[in-house]
Amino acid sequence: MISLKLSNGIEIPQIGFGTFEIPDDTAAEAVKTALEAGYRHIDTAAIYRNENGVGKGIKESGIPRNEIFLTSKLWNDDQGYDTALKAFDESLKKLGTDYLDLYLIHWPKAKNKESWKALEKLYKDGRVKSIGVSNFKEHHLDDLLTEAEIIPMINQVELHPQFPQKEIRKYCMEKGIIVEAWASLMQGQIFDKKIVIQIAEKHGKTVSQVGIRWAVQNGIVTIPKSTHIQRIKENLNVFDFELDQDDMLKMEELNKGIRIGRDPDKIDF
Ligand code: NDP
Repeated sequence: MISLKLSNGIEIPQIGFGTFEIPDDTAAEAVKTALEAGYRHIDTAAIYRNENGVGKGIKESGIPRNEIFLTSKLWNDDQGYDTALKAFDESLKKLGTDYLDLYLIHWPKAKNKESWKALEKLYKDGRVKSIGVSNFKEHHLDDLLTEAEIIPMINQVELHPQFPQKEIRKYCMEKGIIVEAWASLMQGQIFDKKIVIQIAEKHGKTVSQVGIRWAVQNGIVTIPKSTHIQRIKENLNVFDFELDQDDMLKMEELNKGIRIGRDPDKIDF
């Protein structure tokens, strides 16, 4: 598995396993399946309400904790200094671990700066190996950086060929922030895109593999989610082919600047 290096030297496997909408009672099985298939990076969040299951899956896999890159996220209701510290403890407890590899502020909110101070403390105390944000636009980062001691190491955003986020990628690259994509498979909407189907046929690969490979070749971390064993394996099998310049140009045609998820400036949750 290829890894990318964060600004603090920590390595993050470029393909991780997403767990959004996997219920707590099936998360253990899904995570175990992913780890058996070779994933070493798991993405969850307090709001997914599956941290117990994710932690159980990690334990039952028998794979040493230090070989797995584990991410969780601070939910909006817990933003603030003391509340963030408490929420982090709760996530650790549910996950059955004594540290995280990455902790993210899930969505930009009014208390970003207080929350960030808490994440900086957790990082300095060695309780989390890297810290970052999610769904932050340039102006959210600009504002955070006016007081931040530590520059976020990751920004996890919605990113796929239809919404490639070129501006935020450029901004993050200049600041040494690694970009991580959610919804690389457009939450299922990539599967009927003719261009991607044609590229997949050309390489004898699947649509999903082309979507994931596109992220990999763009230097982005990606965390596809599936609950099906064959798909979980398929999504990791993207290192035996390469999208050529023509493929990458064709993928550009999908860029409509249209999100699937919510605009971070307009969220009300
Ligand atoms: P994805 O783009 O990963 O798409 C997941 C969908 O694609 C599911 O319906 C899945 O179905 C299907 N799928 C996956 N692999 C295949 C395949 N090989 N063939 C056919 N269908 C497939 O969407 P997500 O929203 O799950 O995003 C990925 C991860 O990003 C999340 O799980 C979560 O960890 C994170 N995330 C973060 C957010 C944030 O705000 N920071 C917001 C949303 C997600 P099935 O399961 O039935 O196989």
